[in-house]
Amino acid sequence: EDNLFKNVIAHAKEYGFIFPSSEIYDGLSAVYDYGQNGAELKNNIKEYWWKFMTLLHDNIVGIDAAIFMHPTTWKASGHVDAFNDPMIDNKDSKKRYRADQLIEGYIEKLEEKIEKEVEKAAKRFENFDRDMFIATNGRVVEYKKKIDEVNERMKNAMGSGDMVEMKKIIDDLEIADPISGTRNWTEVRQFNLMFSTEIGSLADDANKIYLRPETAQGIFVNFLNVQKTGRMKIPFGIAQIGKAFRNEIVARQFIFRMREFEQMEMQFFVKPGEEGKWYEYWKEKRMRWHQTLGLGAANYRFHDHLNLAHYAKAACDIQFNFPMGFRELEGIHSRSDFDLKSHEKFSGKKLQYFDSEDNQSYVPYVVETSVGLDRMFLSVLANSYKEEKLEDGSDRVVLRIPAPLAPHKVAILPLMKKDGLPEKAAEIMNDLKYDLRCFYEEKDAIGKRYRRQDAIGTPYCITIDHQTLEDNTVTIRDRDTMKQERVHVKDLRSKLIDACSI
Ligand code: ATP
Repeated sequence: EDNLFKNVIAHAKEYGFIFPSSEIYDGLSAVYDYGQNGAELKNNIKEYWWKFMTLLHDNIVGIDAAIFMHPTTWKASGHVDAFNDPMIDNKDSKKRYRADQLIEGYIEKLEEKIEKEVEKAAKRFENFDRDMFIATNGRVVEYKKKIDEVNERMKNAMGSGDMVEMKKIIDDLEIADPISGTRNWTEVRQFNLMFSTEIGSLADDANKIYLRPETAQGIFVNFLNVQKTGRMKIPFGIAQIGKAFRNEIVARQFIFRMREFEQMEMQFFVKPGEEGKWYEYWKEKRMRWHQTLGLGAANYRFHDHLNLAHYAKAACDIQFNFPMGFRELEGIHSRSDFDLKSHEKFSGKKLQYFDSEDNQSYVPYVVETSVGLDRMFLSVLANSYKEEKLEDGSDRVVLRIPAPLAPHKVAILPLMKKDGLPEKAAEIMNDLKYDLRCFYEEKDAIGKRYRRQDAIGTPYCITIDHQTLEDNTVTIRDRDTMKQERVHVKDLRSKLIDACSI
């Protein structure tokens, strides 16, 4: 698994998907650049999300707010006071960890133990009743009790910012450093994750501003602007794609956790009391959206949050089966009226909606869906990377990227660089290139060119040969099956467009 992940990272660089930032200066930790193929894939993911949100829902509109916001925004949102990660250092390995993640690791181990018991029992009994077993089996009940107890303690410690208690939990559970295996820790300390800088020319505290750590606040502060100018009626949503910045202390795992990343967020404004219904609605919608992509439905699962963020009433993740295991891909949060009410308080401006049906004004409740664009990119890249052994004994590396997301939809390959084949190829490409992103290549043997297209995930290769000049047909080669068929040039466009749309 580890090796596979390394190969994916190396492949991403070799084929122009992802480069370390400022690589000639040895890179910058947890910051990455998207190369020529990566930028296309990323744009296609954005489009896939943006279209789903704003085209398929006539009550959702999109905005593009600035990264800089008035500094009071982050007081109101709670990020100045509560956006802290509790960190602990191991004195032996010199490694720094998030204290809550160490504790969650402990809980995950207990959950795995429960699953093992369930699996064992399921094999032993006919008509196995999973729920009944979990509720009654002595060992499982013990594990569950322990999980609840640890969760409760952690929730309280995180909620009150009690770092002495966080340390005590780690000690009580005898959690050891996953690398050195020792328990020689420092105390737990909190670090705020926001980047700050100064605006204007005076570098005093009054001019301190932050790079936004989430895009959501740009939506909240514009809630009334959009509602009024767009004549939006509740329930309605505002969608946004944009950069966010977090000074992640433990930044590892490639583009999974970056210091500069992009989010695709949607805030859905609802009538108070209806948030439960809409929370369930968006959970289900978002899960189906992911699964429609075709990376395999079993690679996604829900994970309910037990430790809620400062703004949340209910929250869950959609996790994806990344190379390092199931991890958060998207968060779905029921944020109540926390943000809008808080902005009312700090700004002194009313952020209420007048409901003409009920003839009353209220501050709406919010259900949020928030997916990391880069994490989604990683899910697509890692899942589509395949090292294959072919029937003739040779190897190939192929990116089985879903066709609608592929950086190039079709490669145009004249078999030879003579006899008018390049000219014919150019004519075909001119006909296709406004609808489909084409890649043109005339160098090297055709087999080699196919392999290069496999490696960047191009779903179709069109080969122009001498027969093309006679009967206006070409071969189309399918990336996944490697099968070729002869197709008339006039049928190419509609055939390819069909195959490359969702
Ligand atoms: P985590 O627990 O992994 O730190 P989070 O719960 O803090 O994530 P949210 O604040 O809910 O994340 O942000 C919403 C989404 O933004 C996440 O589901 C994730 O896809 C993405 N995201 C958050 N932090 C990062 C990061 N440092 N790098 C890349 N994507 C991120």
